[in-house]
Amino acid sequence: MRAIVIDRPGTFRVAEVPDPTPGATEVVVRVEYCGICGTDLHILAGEFPPTPYPITPGHEFAGTVVARGPDVKPDLPIGARVAVDPSLYCGYCRRCRAGRDNLCENWAAIGDTVDGAFAEFVAVPAVNAYRLPDHVDSQHGAMAEPLACAVHGLRRLGPVFGDPVVVIGAGTMGLLLLQVLLTSGAGPVAVVDRVSERLEVARKLGADRAVTSAEALEGERFEVAVDATGVPEAIESAVGLLDRGGRLLVFGVSTAEAAIRVSPFRVYNDELTITGSMAILRSFGQAVDLLASGAVDPRLLLSEPLPLEDFGEAVSRVRGGQGVKWHLRP
Ligand SMILES: [Zn+2]
Ligand SMILES: [Zn+2]
Repeated sequence: MRAIVIDRPGTFRVAEVPDPTPGATEVVVRVEYCGICGTDLHILAGEFPPTPYPITPGHEFAGTVVARGPDVKPDLPIGARVAVDPSLYCGYCRRCRAGRDNLCENWAAIGDTVDGAFAEFVAVPAVNAYRLPDHVDSQHGAMAEPLACAVHGLRRLGPVFGDPVVVIGAGTMGLLLLQVLLTSGAGPVAVVDRVSERLEVARKLGADRAVTSAEALEGERFEVAVDATGVPEAIESAVGLLDRGGRLLVFGVSTAEAAIRVSPFRVYNDELTITGSMAILRSFGQAVDLLASGAVDPRLLLSEPLPLEDFGEAVSRVRGGQGVKWHLRP
């Protein structure tokens, strides 16, 4: 089969590699769509510490089951269309046993630590595969992974009904968070991003205000601020927009070295809450349900998919901030 192989950081090739065979409890999925995201850029740049090389990246995908291991349950037949939770939590470390699998001490994931879905086929544990209803197309199904991260973020934040919210960043994650916030009864929701095309999408998805900088919201105060950028200055501006008693969700991915300045006086005196959210925790099924019910509509986020051979082109479009979500069709 054809697959993208990153032999070492900074370089990749479209390679011919052996087809995967399923282990006893695995299925092989023929990949229909695989999304590219910031993590893939970090893996390509050698900036994602858990990744061993060589690796085939790709963790946001959907496709069709084409082979099954002998111990796979009958509810996942050949031909089933599925979206796949890439999480490979160990199940026996202290964090897993405390129900916080996403903080697993032996953290691993398809496309991050083992070969992923920028390939024609990928072998995955059957328990990670979620069947897609007939009316959910596979490109939408490939959005279940980032959406599952947004669902976990909302759970971390707690109830938002009736709360004015500001979302910083209108990339894929900011726009999915906007939709889950609105569907959870938050509002009005303001969105901040430097790219005006993305603000236009945010408005169409129901943002009450969509502005190019936090300064444009000066004077307004929010119960909840969500950072979907990982940029320290943006996170500081989000704290500045919080009302007394406000809650901040730190969702964006920053580097391990990044630092922010926050007034401890405000945290104490205003009773601010700062919460983090990391990847997926038993939120994948709900993400599929939100796509199936139409409560989250990914259409405005999607660009025309590219062939597998255009991995490099997709990388440069993501780097250039072009469009919102790019998918490859292996
Ligand atoms: Zn991703
Ligand atoms: Zn674990």
